[in-house]
Amino acid sequence: MASGLEDVRKRLKLTCEEEEIAVFEDEIPAEKIAEIKLCLWGKLLTNKQFNARAIKSILQNIWKPEKGIVSFDGAILLLKDIDGTEQLSEVKFETARFWVKAYDVSAMQQTYAFACFLTSKVRSFVSCKEATMYGVDKSLCFTVDIDISKPLKRGQKVMVGGKPMLVDFRYVKLPNFCYLCGMLGHVTKGCGYYNLDVLEYEYQYGNWLRASPLKS
Ligand SMILES: [Zn+2]
Repeated sequence: MASGLEDVRKRLKLTCEEEEIAVFEDEIPAEKIAEIKLCLWGKLLTNKQFNARAIKSILQNIWKPEKGIVSFDGAILLLKDIDGTEQLSEVKFETARFWVKAYDVSAMQQTYAFACFLTSKVRSFVSCKEATMYGVDKSLCFTVDIDISKPLKRGQKVMVGGKPMLVDFRYVKLPNFCYLCGMLGHVTKGCGYYNLDVLEYEYQYGNWLRASPLKS
């Protein structure tokens, strides 16, 4: 919803006349249905001001959604299919899809099943779509929808065949994120926890969470 409109709505007390429900019933034209099928609704995950026109123009030039995530000025652009019946305030952007590389996974566990197991155990990982193994990188790569309301997960302790191990996660094409709290959508200096007393080397998140690009 447009900025501020949600807050205004929360405190409004509607009059009886405004509360009265006006029922609209009409056939939706076939052209409109076809047009909506081609639509995606988007949100730029950032707390900074941005130029929407510049984004539109960049997207028109580089529009290749199948190639992975789209970002602008370091911020990820979240996109969602709509069926056209939603109010814009109902469209929620809760996840973003990334390629994750899991490191230090034993060779036997470099499988789609293990990627799905990791996804099921990591609370911020919502669903695993596909997985592949890159022998040289010694990493298990999988696409996962990540809950953007939670900090990036740096790893997960697992028990395999009675042996405990820590699996490290790295993310491909990671946009701007906060090195203090690990959240996407803002950078360290824009963080509510930002404090000059915390030294950079004490940050619990950092550039090291970025994975090298996938091999083609
Ligand atoms: Zn933060």
